Amino acid sequence: MNQEKILNVLETAYQKGKAVAPYGNVATYIPELGKADKNNLGISIFTVGGQKYNVGDTDRRFTIQSISKIISLVLALEHLGFDKVFSKVGMEPSGEAFNSLVELDLNSNKPFNPMINSGALTVSSLLLPEFSFEEMTEYARKVCLDSEIEMNEAVFQSEMSNVSRNRAIAYLLESKGIIENDVEKSLELYTKMCSLNVTAESLANFGMILAADGINPANGERLISAQAVKIAKTIMLTCGMYDGSGEFAVYVGIPTKSGVGGGLLSVADYKMGIGVYGPSLDEKGNCIAGRPVLEYLSKELGLHIFDRKRI
Ligand code: GLU
Repeated sequence: MNQEKILNVLETAYQKGKAVAPYGNVATYIPELGKADKNNLGISIFTVGGQKYNVGDTDRRFTIQSISKIISLVLALEHLGFDKVFSKVGMEPSGEAFNSLVELDLNSNKPFNPMINSGALTVSSLLLPEFSFEEMTEYARKVCLDSEIEMNEAVFQSEMSNVSRNRAIAYLLESKGIIENDVEKSLELYTKMCSLNVTAESLANFGMILAADGINPANGERLISAQAVKIAKTIMLTCGMYDGSGEFAVYVGIPTKSGVGGGLLSVADYKMGIGVYGPSLDEKGNCIAGRPVLEYLSKELGLHIFDRKRI
């Protein structure tokens, strides 16, 4: 891989992201997230061959939010198995906002997919009897190659004080027999996982491991099963950007998961992991810089999943 080319492309992608950041807004429905600086931007590219490229605020800590849904999903798939997980949650894009409960209430007996809140709350309820939050944090540290991941107490408390909508979803799931374990504890586990502090670099590490089918390319250690990784990447492509997933797949074509803390986890298969931090969000709750940044990287480096170009 041509290092100079990647550096140049990364710098231009960063400038494109910087240019749109003022047009978005930081999330405020979790008040603590409203304190972020919307002009922050960091992009990390870590290749499976061991090259690392960083630009901007790549070591700044922020909460992982919905990107934790991938960590919980792979853990659930490995420990409970495909059939158990997908007996409780579907695998279809919802076309609805991340915190919607309309379709679930009226037309469905299980959440559309594990990336929307109803699906992730369901996965958390499945994990509740199996793992403590401390064990799940340790797993997050392992797959992000980041031993400093901790829960951000202020963000956790802030979300728990404004959690009515997720609580409503969780009780709706219980009423439909989808959540069978303790509802309040499932909600707390989900919210704690959303409050883990990561960096763009941790996300690039995680993306790199997913790109390498679950193996840490630096030492050959398998961290996640190939089967769980395959499912996670597929769900990221189809559902990772909420109701913006289809358009993102066409224009960018890199399986990606967003979080309202401003993070993006992207996987260019067998090539690289990309981590982005930009807390300025678009109207769908995705990092607003993510689209121009990743679209440019995809085009210039041939990263679209159906692109035959090789760098
Ligand atoms: N903790 C957030 C929520 O449940 C995560 C949402 C997101 O990152 O999209 O509302």
